[in-house]
Amino acid sequence: MAISPTPRGEDWIRVTEAGLFVEPGGFHVDPARPVDRAVITHGHADHARPNHRAVLATPETLAIMRARYGDAAGGTLEPLPYRRPITLDGVTVELVPAGHVLGSAQAVLTWRGCRVTVSGDYKRRSDPTCAPFEVVPSDVFVTEATFGLPVFHHPPAEAEIGKLLQARARNPDRAIVLGVYALGKAQRVIALLRAAGYDRPLFLHGALLALCELYREHGVNLGELVPATGRPKADFQGQIVLAPPSAIADRWARRLPDPMAAAASGWMRVRQRAKQRGVELPLIISDHADWDELVATIQEVEAAEIWVTHGREEALVRQAELLGLAARALRLVGRDEDGEDAA
Ligand SMILES: [Zn+2]
Ligand SMILES: [Zn+2]
Repeated sequence: MAISPTPRGEDWIRVTEAGLFVEPGGFHVDPARPVDRAVITHGHADHARPNHRAVLATPETLAIMRARYGDAAGGTLEPLPYRRPITLDGVTVELVPAGHVLGSAQAVLTWRGCRVTVSGDYKRRSDPTCAPFEVVPSDVFVTEATFGLPVFHHPPAEAEIGKLLQARARNPDRAIVLGVYALGKAQRVIALLRAAGYDRPLFLHGALLALCELYREHGVNLGELVPATGRPKADFQGQIVLAPPSAIADRWARRLPDPMAAAASGWMRVRQRAKQRGVELPLIISDHADWDELVATIQEVEAAEIWVTHGREEALVRQAELLGLAARALRLVGRDEDGEDAA
């Protein structure tokens, strides 16, 4: 009997216009357009698109997709909890925590002895709102590179939360309006505030309420949250109000007393970006790996080959090559340039 050699990743996983296509399994991972079968790593809009015929994802990710898309979340939604491998036409699929947002997973795909891990988006810092990233030894590791330049270093999130609390204490007559993405960042910032001992009510823009409720239903304690509507201006003095990034320098914020625009994002490392957006209090808090975490991770997974996707692909490809690894930029279409769910 002839023994066929172990395939290479590129022999069975192709880059198509819809994204990564796992040929023997007949499914895409995080496709950019509607497909027959999709494995979805997490609920951010640039990974979880609506209207696939069949979706396989963690129960938490499916709940997020249902909350966002309703009936358009997909034809059939099949929950696959972490670490319960299943086989789709000979390809073993296992979801392993990615530490990015609630329910976020790395898709660990194995076919004929070749293991390719598609990590989706990930971070290595602790986050009280989701399961931590797990290192999976792989033949090929597919990594994001949202913050794939050495300049991107995220300070400890706890220290950034400390800045927020100091600003609040120093400005008792002002409201701080903090721009956060609706999925992940909002809940992480709230949980970090609670961990720092801040137990006052937090005021929320209406666009953040549903996903905070969903996190709560999944056992994440967020303390008292109050809609920031229908109250006299004076009620917001000395308070922290969370809103989508687009609302902080908008008409919406004018209901608040002398609002101080703040934002929590890895992009706040770039002063120019903070300035452009009218951010007075930039906080560097990211749900993506920074440069050091990216470089550490591509080594820890012990993969011979690194495939790099959305973000600054070239720098990380070069770094991987300097470390003696084969590397390529995937240039997938449809990934969010912001990488933080700017929608
Ligand atoms: Zn994401
Ligand atoms: Zn992403």
